[in-house]
Amino acid sequence: MISFGINIGKRSHNICRICFRTYDTDGVRVRFAPSPTGYLHLGGLRTALYNFLFAKKHNGKFILRIEDTDQTRLVAGATEQLQRDLEWSGIHIDEGPSQGGLAGPYLQSQRLNIYREQVQVLLENGSAYHCFCTERRLQLLRREALKKQEIPKYDNRCRHLSTEEVERRLEKGEMSCIRFKISEKEESFDDLIYGKIAYNISLNEGDPVIMKTDGFPTYHFANVVDDHLMKISHVLRGVEWQISTTKHLLLYRAFGWIPPSFGHLPLLMNSDGSKLSKRQGDIKISHYRESNIFPLALINFIVYSGGGFTKDLERNIKPKCYTIDELASQFDITRINSHSGKLMNDRLLEFNRLELRRKLQNEKELHNMVQQVKTLLKTTFAQRVEDGSLKFDDDHIRNVLLWSSERISKLSDLVSEDLAFIWVVPSNHHIVSKEVDTIKSLKTMLEGIEEQGDTKDLNAILKTFSQEHGIKFAALMKMLRHILSGLKEGPSVAEMMVILGKKNTLDRLENCINNAKT
Ligand code: GLU
Repeated sequence: MISFGINIGKRSHNICRICFRTYDTDGVRVRFAPSPTGYLHLGGLRTALYNFLFAKKHNGKFILRIEDTDQTRLVAGATEQLQRDLEWSGIHIDEGPSQGGLAGPYLQSQRLNIYREQVQVLLENGSAYHCFCTERRLQLLRREALKKQEIPKYDNRCRHLSTEEVERRLEKGEMSCIRFKISEKEESFDDLIYGKIAYNISLNEGDPVIMKTDGFPTYHFANVVDDHLMKISHVLRGVEWQISTTKHLLLYRAFGWIPPSFGHLPLLMNSDGSKLSKRQGDIKISHYRESNIFPLALINFIVYSGGGFTKDLERNIKPKCYTIDELASQFDITRINSHSGKLMNDRLLEFNRLELRRKLQNEKELHNMVQQVKTLLKTTFAQRVEDGSLKFDDDHIRNVLLWSSERISKLSDLVSEDLAFIWVVPSNHHIVSKEVDTIKSLKTMLEGIEEQGDTKDLNAILKTFSQEHGIKFAALMKMLRHILSGLKEGPSVAEMMVILGKKNTLDRLENCINNAKT
């Protein structure tokens, strides 16, 4: 048995140990076990991410298991979308429905024979029993309890049926489900994040159903059986499941299995402390992807709110968007906060900006981003692609991207109204004939310059030009801004000229000369 002690010193309970127990030959094996009832949202991504980082840190395996036994809640295509969202986020699955693996199948609906076999073990050792109570009786029990202002719970009636009676009723073909006998004692466990958790399940519920009348297992049963058979060493999941863990531990005991270690991740909240709702469109991972948020920015945004990293990962001095490898090496489960994590929305764009800057320094990433911007341009300005007023080529996009590194937070900012002039040739030039001569001279002068240089040089050149031609500098700038961008506001004229490049600048001046009212 390998075990290494990790002192959860800041917590109120005694030292807790992360222990591999019987899993020493398999090492760390963690899983993300979503139900395919919808899209992947921030909370789900956080659970997957922390499992993934934990596996990576300990050279373990990250497993994706799809918990699809509640057939009534399935959403078509959700499993596939979920896998795409995880891959997009940089979370790579070692074993799962698409990757396969020795502990498969990884879809619970394909493991029904396993659950049926395992439930037999519990029936035979007396930990579970057939229950013949009808839905009508259960409803009456519920109603009765509510009337008496008691907690509605099953009264465990069928626990006491004799073996003969059970056999007789089964032979008659009476429908039954299987229930698990829960203990009436308080159970406790050491939560890797919350410390000691104690709970007496029987105070709030009767014996739970583990196998439904239709032969499908319930979540609790399938989850425990699979975690054991898949040799899961650590279960890291949302705190909403913490209350179920004592029930799961009773199931492990009934089977005679050694349970994994459990850690529950606190809730993720909005920055104002309100609950993230699944109905809020913007917690969908696909929403972030479609909003041009980079995967790593989203990942940093999530971990920023939840903690779980060594002190070295200090962001206060110099904000940084960490790579998955950096996060994994600094991951420390004992440092995960046990209070709810607040998502700081302004941080998301900051991380995105940092990630954009990092990507711009890498030739391959830059090339990919040029292609992404091209797609953005074509979709945003579809109409203009057709009428020819959209100007872009790879070199232009590349230069714009390099220019943009300090100015934008996401690629889509490049097609925003403010910056559309970079691509769209403005059509309205209200230039009168006396101004045409000035523009012509300016064009000739600019043609003579080898390269446009930087904004400072250009500004100086424009200033000299205005003095030599007896035009007020402000008036010249106003006119040029209009010619080059069609905008009244925006970056400085010199900056516009730098972004547009010499050729585009001259083309726009030429265009204006040709269209001027005479
Ligand atoms: N299927 C459960 C869910 O949807 C899994 C909970 C667990 O990780 O045990 O979140």
